[in-house]
Amino acid sequence: MLEYVKSHIAQDSDLADFDMTPWFAGHPVDTISFGAALVEGRMYDSGPMMDADPGPAYPRLRELVRAGIRRQVVHPFDLADRRFGLVLDFRSPAIAEETHGLILEFVARLTPLLLGRLREDALERANRALRTIHEATEAFAHATTAQAVFDAACRLAVETGGYNTCWVGLAQHDPEKSVSLAASAGRGTGYVAQLRLSWADVPNGRGPAGTAIRERRISRWRDIAVDPRFEPWRHKALASGFRSCISLPFGGAGIPAAGALTLYSSDPMAFGEEERDLLVELTANMTKALQAFTTRQERDDALMAHSMSERRIDRLLAATGVVLYALALHGDEAVLVDMSENIVDMLGYVPGNIRGLDWWRNHVHPEDLPQAALGVPRTVESGQFVHRYRIRHQNGGYRWIHDEKTLQRDAAGNPVGIVGVWIDITERREAEEQIYRLAHIDPLTELPNRRLLNERLREVLIEARRTGVQGALLFIDLDRFKTINDMLGHSAGDSALRQAAQRLRQAVRAADTIARVGGDEFVVLIADAGSTVADAADHAATIARKMIDALTARPISIGEREYHLGASIGFTMFPKPDDTIDTLIREADTAMYQAKAGEADVVMFRQSMHLSIVARHAIEDEIRSALKAGRFEIWLQDQVELGGKPVGAEVLLRLRDRDGRIAVPSEFIGIAESSGLIVPLGRWLLREACALLARAHRDRPDWRLSVNVSPRQFRDPAFVTDVIAALDISGVPADRLTLEITENLLIRDTFEIARIMGILADRGVRFSVDDFGTGYSSLHYLRQLPIHEIKIDRGFIGQVPDDASSVAIVEAILAMARRLDLDVVAEGVETPEHVAFLKARGCPRMQGYFFACPIPVSEWLERSAHTPDAGVANARR
Ligand code: C2E
Ligand code: CA
Ligand code: CA
Repeated sequence: MLEYVKSHIAQDSDLADFDMTPWFAGHPVDTISFGAALVEGRMYDSGPMMDADPGPAYPRLRELVRAGIRRQVVHPFDLADRRFGLVLDFRSPAIAEETHGLILEFVARLTPLLLGRLREDALERANRALRTIHEATEAFAHATTAQAVFDAACRLAVETGGYNTCWVGLAQHDPEKSVSLAASAGRGTGYVAQLRLSWADVPNGRGPAGTAIRERRISRWRDIAVDPRFEPWRHKALASGFRSCISLPFGGAGIPAAGALTLYSSDPMAFGEEERDLLVELTANMTKALQAFTTRQERDDALMAHSMSERRIDRLLAATGVVLYALALHGDEAVLVDMSENIVDMLGYVPGNIRGLDWWRNHVHPEDLPQAALGVPRTVESGQFVHRYRIRHQNGGYRWIHDEKTLQRDAAGNPVGIVGVWIDITERREAEEQIYRLAHIDPLTELPNRRLLNERLREVLIEARRTGVQGALLFIDLDRFKTINDMLGHSAGDSALRQAAQRLRQAVRAADTIARVGGDEFVVLIADAGSTVADAADHAATIARKMIDALTARPISIGEREYHLGASIGFTMFPKPDDTIDTLIREADTAMYQAKAGEADVVMFRQSMHLSIVARHAIEDEIRSALKAGRFEIWLQDQVELGGKPVGAEVLLRLRDRDGRIAVPSEFIGIAESSGLIVPLGRWLLREACALLARAHRDRPDWRLSVNVSPRQFRDPAFVTDVIAALDISGVPADRLTLEITENLLIRDTFEIARIMGILADRGVRFSVDDFGTGYSSLHYLRQLPIHEIKIDRGFIGQVPDDASSVAIVEAILAMARRLDLDVVAEGVETPEHVAFLKARGCPRMQGYFFACPIPVSEWLERSAHTPDAGVANARR
């Protein structure tokens, strides 16, 4: 920020040479003159300062007086999560009366600008972090040792992430609890190499890495130059160009963490919330990669035990440690006639006590009996038979028996008896099961893992292609899980995951597979979702809703506290031509992404979402460059009252690409949302819309403009300031501006959303609920929140007057709006029948191609200059 202000000071200004360093280098704020303003958050005016030297007790004041300052006014303001002060030094003790007002106004105008700048920087860093994650995940997948994982993380953080320096430290369990350097990269590796750190609670353990490991939490240090905690390292760190730092714990099943990944940036404002979240994802991926190595090790050990047991069977066979027996056949009955003594070693029974078929029947595990009972008839049929089943040991437990039978015939060839061997294969079975579990079951939630899911999906897909039965694949990502994990640590995160998994499992049928495929990601495979695509889609959406309901029905509890979970779900259907396991998972994931971006909590995959990462990046770059080059355009679509007179318009965004082709929002809004670019884009659009309002306001004071606001934009910390700044700059009355939001925005974090809406509604801004009827459609929020208008979704309007249920819905919405005293706009009005229907029911406002298509602003202005009042009713496409 200081750098930013400095770079805006004119070269010839007195201030250009003013050395600002002493003002921030390590001075506790409350000992200097403007400290009170910062601490108490109010404007501070020193009043006239005397010429006299205030004496050595007040070194700061003395310095000011010596520098010729006779009065100082400080105004604090908060930006991002930090407090700043605007300090004005005057050379005369008297200042003009309006000074305070002017300062207030200046700060009000300055903050959105600075904030915009900070946000864009943060966005750029977050984008770099995102790329780092992509590349690191790739690199981790190929790594075969932990060292390779560490090296890759450090290298990519510096090369792709653009961080000054990155290093990985591992917690040692020596008496000093030292932190050893495992890998590092970047300009400051010299600094890192000389560190002698610990993770104990001692002075050299209270730095970033030591804290992160010991307390198992992210330790973030913004502005190393002033952070008093950094004192022991400050000098050298600043010399290495570090201005901020973050350390993230990774790995380790218990507490403390196995180690920490530490990153330094030369930007004091680095490591904002978004960037931090991404880095958490990076370390989570790292932990996952490391865990994969240990799981592999455990599996190898299990395999080893397996082959040992096999060798033991060989030994037993050689020493005839196996149990031998003989049965006599009397018709269908087989009677035990002999059994070797060592049955005592195997099952604990004395051979003399083992008599008759009943003994055997009573001792075989009931689950295995139906299969095991086929042993005798099968042997009689084919001469030889081998099977496995469990028999109860004398101590009550069960042993797995490998039973091999051979038929005995008399000289005439008639079956007379069976000889057989029993081999105890319990250990081998257990080893096999353990191998299976390690390879197929997620130990935390005990749900199938990605491998098992893939195996089932492969089978189900083949079956679906054969029978034509429709299946569905759902991708579920928990909302807010990361916050719990970051705030409360991994064991709390694990508990949240287990509880979530349990609830999700209850929402699906036993025949369906639910697997955990990543940190907080689950996949549900529905083998039989219906016989038509429409049925299957309905069924999948119902299951998805059930899962969300199961998660949100009541909060989960961790320790003494309760937390609300939520989820975003995307799904896709199969079979389709050319689909594979990978494409299906990717489709469901993409749809989930769309749900996360705010479209709805449950989203079905559409082919149009199917953009590769490369295409995504290309569109992101295009949005960025269009913003810079002014290639975004505002188009307007009239909204008319019952008589057809235009009373307002909706702003619809268009992008003109370099070849002059016009792109519509469906091609870029989703990516603008998910990349965060919607924030600067929305800010620009608000300014433009307000400027247009100001222009139109002179001729038509009643005319209103509606602007679409996406969820991500709405949740941006600068949103309120952006809207207010746009209104202030244009000077239009706030109630001319309507913000269109979607129902889905209102479901999550309702409290915070209500607070933001409240601030803006108090200023006069109106809110409209877009696409009403397609989402949550709860009356509850209509009453609780400052909502002024609803827009009936065009899906319903398009179906009136023929479709009875659409008719009923539209009528119900109109009646409800009247009762709650809300404005209503019907959108997508295309035909005279639509108009007649809506008029007959007194729908106050309409929008759609019947009245006007969206047109560029310039065209709209020209047209309205010719027909200022009548508008252009009936201007068809
Ligand atoms: P929406 O807010 O529901 O906007 C109305 C959409 O319906 C517009 O599509 C408009 O061209 C179209 N439309 C208008 N009249 C008719 C009609 O009679 N029949 C039919 N079938 N369609 C009609 P458009 O411009 O492609 O925008 C699509 C969506 O993109 C919008 O849906 C809105 O959600 C989003 N969008 C557009 N501009 C912005 C923006 O500035 N910011 C954000 N966040 N989203 C925007
Ligand atoms: Ca809209
Ligand atoms: Ca709409």
